[in-house]
Amino acid sequence: MKKAGAAHGSCIGGGMTNPSSGARVVSPIQAYLERLHAQFSGLAEGAVASYIPELAKADPGAFGIVIATVDGHVYEVGATRQAFTIQSISKPLVYGVALEDRGRERVHSVIGVEPTGEAFNSISLEPETGRPLNPMINAGAIATSSLVTGDGREERLARVVDAISAYAGRPLAVDEAVFESERATGHRNRAIGHMLRNYDIVTEDPEPALELYFKQCSVLVDCRDLALIAATLANGGVHPINGQRAVREEFVSGVLSVMATCGMYDFAGEWVYRVGMAAKSGVGGGVIAVLPGQLGIGVFSPALDARGNSVRGVKVCESISADLGLHFLQPPRPLASAVRARYTMAGVRSKRRRPESERRVFDEHGERVVVYELQGDVRFASTERVLREIIDAGDALHFAVLDFKRVTHIDLAATRMLASLVACCAARGQHLVLTRVRRGEMLSEFGVELDPRSARCVSFQPQLDLGLEWCERGLLERYAQAHVASALSGLAEHRLCDGTSEADIAHLDMQLERWQFEAGASIVRRGDAADALYFLMSGEVSVIVELPQGGFKRLATLSAGMGFGESALIAGGVRSADVRADTAVTCGALSASAFARLEAERPTLMIRLMQNLLQGTAETAARLTAEVAALEG
Ligand code: GLN
Repeated sequence: MKKAGAAHGSCIGGGMTNPSSGARVVSPIQAYLERLHAQFSGLAEGAVASYIPELAKADPGAFGIVIATVDGHVYEVGATRQAFTIQSISKPLVYGVALEDRGRERVHSVIGVEPTGEAFNSISLEPETGRPLNPMINAGAIATSSLVTGDGREERLARVVDAISAYAGRPLAVDEAVFESERATGHRNRAIGHMLRNYDIVTEDPEPALELYFKQCSVLVDCRDLALIAATLANGGVHPINGQRAVREEFVSGVLSVMATCGMYDFAGEWVYRVGMAAKSGVGGGVIAVLPGQLGIGVFSPALDARGNSVRGVKVCESISADLGLHFLQPPRPLASAVRARYTMAGVRSKRRRPESERRVFDEHGERVVVYELQGDVRFASTERVLREIIDAGDALHFAVLDFKRVTHIDLAATRMLASLVACCAARGQHLVLTRVRRGEMLSEFGVELDPRSARCVSFQPQLDLGLEWCERGLLERYAQAHVASALSGLAEHRLCDGTSEADIAHLDMQLERWQFEAGASIVRRGDAADALYFLMSGEVSVIVELPQGGFKRLATLSAGMGFGESALIAGGVRSADVRADTAVTCGALSASAFARLEAERPTLMIRLMQNLLQGTAETAARLTAEVAALEG
């Protein structure tokens, strides 16, 4: 946390009482807000709005600050539950309603999005067309209200009040006294309404639009509501506590844009420079500030400056932005961290154990398979990095694996970039393997964007391990000389018997119990007594563990010539994993007691077996070491 606020004593931190003393622990953020509140309570500049008589009754000393996070936590201090009228903070929300009701094009044709640099009640209309310059000044807001659809005044009012209530997350109502007061004295707004009618921006009697505008401004809120309205915008239009959508996602950036450029009227430029958040003020004393993806701020303090913005509201937002590092244009950290790990098959392999001849292929050609484990939100920058590397790698690269396990979201632009990467890969005979993509949740447009001619160059795999194995098969098809037999003709060919004499093999042969299993059969179960070493003679088995959250994880796949269950001879105890036949399997089992007898009967055989088992263990350890090194690198 940076110490920007140190100069005025509002630096965050130091707000925690010592937990070991048993005293109440105050969140540092809560403590920070309390200090901020105390600091600005003394600020007595500005005056309450008096041009609407009812607003002149406001208490200039009232003061509340609320921060609401996008995951719905609310920090509040001061007068956060005192009701006041929302006033102009209704404008961006009703702009969202108009966008929903009429579409972007129609709304743009009658209301611009240019800041005016003039006061909120200026009569700034485009000279030729009479189009209000933006929806945040009164002219644009009245035009906006005229676009709300509904059958009759009541329905249109309900549409607007319901929308504002959805942002706040509770039913809101109109303060009739403020409404009457504003209607009775709103001559300037009425003039604006008739100007709009004159230019055909408002196409019917402007009175109903004016009435709706006065009513929406008179909706009663409190400071907590403001912060939740702001947090709903920060959260893509979904209320952070109740999860209800207040505005369609596609319109959120439009609403926030006009707030950022015009929300503080003729202070908008200063505001962006100093605070750097999308914001809106109201003459009732409210201010909201929005930092997309992070939080919403609501401040209530009715004393206004000459521009109609809350004096303390501006100061508080300025401090919060500086102290908590919230300026929206502060350069973000490069997105390199979206690639959690990058490695090649030189270091990391699938869990399938391979005979030496195959391992040599991976030692030699492993660099042709590159794996990117992605994480977080995948957008342009992270995708561009991966894409550039794959393109630059040229023909030397055969397979690129993209793992999505830790990806939280991939946007449409990145999805399209991946789909076009497939076309590039197809042109060079490369393959893209996408692992652990949660279907229905991400990449839903991928299929639509994909050129069907290149579809054969992309493969989806439910596990990273299976994706790696898929690439291994591809490398072996291209580079392996000899095909490895799937069955041994005798024990002499088994790896565990390397270096043993014929007589020893004959002896061992008599000790082995022969077993056959069908594909899918369970050979060893976790928790069984570990009482035999298995010599796999034909077929394939997988060693798997059941995961606590359901499903399985494969630890190894073994083929003819390999052994399993060796821990029985060394440690005894019970089995720690399941072994299942992937195909029809034949194997020989050497019981722990038969093995123990070898010490006296055939010591040389016993030593050989031990050496060969140790060799296998050493290989496993080497593989795991390489994997850790690759993942850390
Ligand atoms: N109802 C007020 C008006 O039109 C709203 C102005 C504001 O909050 N800035 O004058």
